[in-house]
Amino acid sequence: MIYDVLIIGSGPAGMTAAIYAKRANLNVMMFEKGAPGGQIVNTFEVENYPGFKKLSGYELATNMFEHVLELGVPVTFEEVKNVIDLGKIKEVHTENGIYQTKTVLIATGVVPRSLGVPNEDKFQANGISWCAICDGPLYKDKKVIVVGGGNSAVEESLFLTNIATHITVVQNLDHLTADPKAVELLKQAKNVDIIYNAEVKEFLGDAQLEGARIQTKEGFKDIQADGVFEYIGLVPITTFVSDLNITNSMGYVEVSDTFETKVPGIFSAGDCNVKKIRQIVTAVSDGAIATQNIIKYLENQHE
Ligand SMILES: Cc1cc2nc3c(=O)[nH]c(=O)nc-3n(C[C@H](O)[C@H](O)[C@H](O)COP(=O)(O)OP(=O)(O)OC[C@H]3O[C@@H](n4cnc5c(N)ncnc54)[C@H](O)[C@@H]3O)c2cc1C
Repeated sequence: MIYDVLIIGSGPAGMTAAIYAKRANLNVMMFEKGAPGGQIVNTFEVENYPGFKKLSGYELATNMFEHVLELGVPVTFEEVKNVIDLGKIKEVHTENGIYQTKTVLIATGVVPRSLGVPNEDKFQANGISWCAICDGPLYKDKKVIVVGGGNSAVEESLFLTNIATHITVVQNLDHLTADPKAVELLKQAKNVDIIYNAEVKEFLGDAQLEGARIQTKEGFKDIQADGVFEYIGLVPITTFVSDLNITNSMGYVEVSDTFETKVPGIFSAGDCNVKKIRQIVTAVSDGAIATQNIIKYLENQHE
């Protein structure tokens, strides 16, 4: 079988694209390597998605996924390993098979960046986490460190204020870069210290994480903690398409205003693209516009 479009990733971008594609009667299938919903599955609360004043990320992801399933879009829980351009036909390779399609939509999002300091590997998922929603409850009545000062760091620190006894936020700049409202709330929290102009240089502990060594302008300082949460930026999930030469030096996919890459018939939407605002609404918008252009591309192929 040759699909009209194969969508890689079931975050907000991929799921919106699936809805638009199915409603346009395209022969579509969506791949997902993890849980459906993408990053929002692990988002504590979403307060900026129009129509919902406040809902959990998990609830929003579930609503979107149910919408996709109700329309009858097939979802394959496999990781896509490669995309091959054969001209009018593309191949999507997974561990289990090769799928043929006329167009591909890459919607694989981003993952959090790691610090790359000593002992980080040793304590990964055993003291060091990238998801407060998932792992925060493990640190009930304990001390934690949050690394970073952007929206994710500040929002997740706020979430942790209700769980941990104390939170030390380590930020490499002289200010927090998150939304002012969230920054204000964090500064008001009684169990939070913010250390500016500081960098984590090493994680401490033998069998168990005991804290982090940070470098400030005054020198090195050890901070005791039972857990660490890192929020220092994002890495696009695009290495599986590196052969196509469609990404910039940071790995983000470059697209035209039709969301098509420089390879005809291969489109990309959402956080994995070069873009300024990485949010649910922008991912959803990308998915819808990309699909409209996929429809046009397919129509042109028939002429
Ligand atoms: C902690 C946190 C809080 C946030 N809070 C908000 C908020 O309040 N409001 C807001 O608007 N935005 C928020 N965001 C940002 C928002 O979640 C993202 O902008 C949005 O999820 C991007 O959607 P996406 O579809 O592009 O990618 P993603 O959500 O990253 O989804 C990509 C999907 O592709 C899958 N995938 C990746 N590679 C492959 C592969 N090779 N094969 C198969 N599947 C693959 C992944 O498993 C994932 O499910 C938050 C993000 C985080 C991390």
